[in-house]
Amino acid sequence: MRDNAPLRTDAVVIGAGPVGLFQAFQLGLQEVGVHVVDGLPYAGGQCAALYPDKYIYDLPALPGCSGEELAQRLLQQLAPLRVPVHLGQVVSALERLPADADARSPRFRLQTDGGLTFECRAVVIAAGVGAFLPRKVPVPELQAWEGRQVYYHDLPPAQWVGQRVVVMGGTEAAARLALTLAQGNAAHVTLLHRNDRFVIDAPLDEELQSAIGAGWIRLCLGQPVGAIATDDGRLEALEIATADDRRLALPLDLLLPRLGLSPRLGPIAEWGLALERKHLVVETAGYQTSEPGIHAVGDVNTYPGKRKLIVCGFHEATLAAFAIAQALRPDERIALEYTTTSTRLQRLLGVVDGAGGQASGTRRIGTGA
Ligand SMILES: Cc1cc2nc3c(=O)[nH]c(=O)nc-3n(C[C@H](O)[C@H](O)[C@H](O)COP(=O)(O)OP(=O)(O)OC[C@H]3O[C@@H](n4cnc5c(N)ncnc54)[C@H](O)[C@@H]3O)c2cc1C
Repeated sequence: MRDNAPLRTDAVVIGAGPVGLFQAFQLGLQEVGVHVVDGLPYAGGQCAALYPDKYIYDLPALPGCSGEELAQRLLQQLAPLRVPVHLGQVVSALERLPADADARSPRFRLQTDGGLTFECRAVVIAAGVGAFLPRKVPVPELQAWEGRQVYYHDLPPAQWVGQRVVVMGGTEAAARLALTLAQGNAAHVTLLHRNDRFVIDAPLDEELQSAIGAGWIRLCLGQPVGAIATDDGRLEALEIATADDRRLALPLDLLLPRLGLSPRLGPIAEWGLALERKHLVVETAGYQTSEPGIHAVGDVNTYPGKRKLIVCGFHEATLAAFAIAQALRPDERIALEYTTTSTRLQRLLGVVDGAGGQASGTRRIGTGA
């Protein structure tokens, strides 16, 4: 494929949170070609990013399910429909293309900060509270080394072998990364945090304290206030302000900040769609925004009576899929079909073979026998 060649599809879903994933499933059942795009390197939205181990108790027919498990179950349900999910790509631009005599031609172009371009005929924004972006170290000069010596996302272990690595943050991600590095082949591992309190559970804290006690991880308490570069432009050290008002230089080869994630509605607020208190205003028949062809579902939308619950987002996604299918195939009556009885739907889901018989490997999904 040519670089930047647009990926052409019927619909693009922005956001691979629970509602975006279920949206893709519902569009797949309608045989609408769909791609999903998310800024995070993993699917699941808030459930995977903010509370992977916490239990959700109000999902229909799932008495208890962790955030991570919900994300995995939604991906499992989507798998037979073979929907491409593009991760680590923030959608930064959305534009309407000029009208064309051919009603089937794309109406929208989307671009991501990672260089992907999509052309499609319908867009569903399932962006929740916005794109989760890593919190940045408040030292602007460090931006010059991002992707070379400063990494906010995972990097292959081979890159830290023999390196002096500074992990920054008091989060679970920071503690786990420091421990992984200490067990790997990094030359030195320093954990930099403003104080000695970490937002982590007791067993992880115990593990961290014993690694610090054994000297596998060096703890440095303070705040970075500047960057020190070599003559040839490499990042050589961080300038640290300590709690007792001293300045020290912390030498490093790699800086891996893990300061948590913060949601940013960002570009979506600039696409000219009607907003109410930073939420996209939609109608409730097909969850279309103020712009025909652009729908919004889940936490990102607002309408009278809106509740930010996963189950409400699932309902919105179902109706949005019917509305999109009808708009894309105006001459067809989009009938309601049950997955229980529709051979067409069962074929799509791979639970019957082409002849209508039960496919091998057909299974009940669930924990029961
Ligand atoms: C601690 C906690 C507990 C909760 N417990 C429950 C519960 O028990 N029951 C319940 O029903 N709800 C619960 N919720 C709420 C529930 O998690 C949300 O309603 C749900 O996650 C909304 O799903 P969503 O798909 O609309 O958005 P999100 O989960 O926010 O996902 C949106 C996704 O869109 C991506 N995105 C945003 N902008 C862009 C962009 N420009 N480009 C690319 N990607 C983008 C984000 O990275 C994100 O992955 C809880 C929430 C929290 C924080």
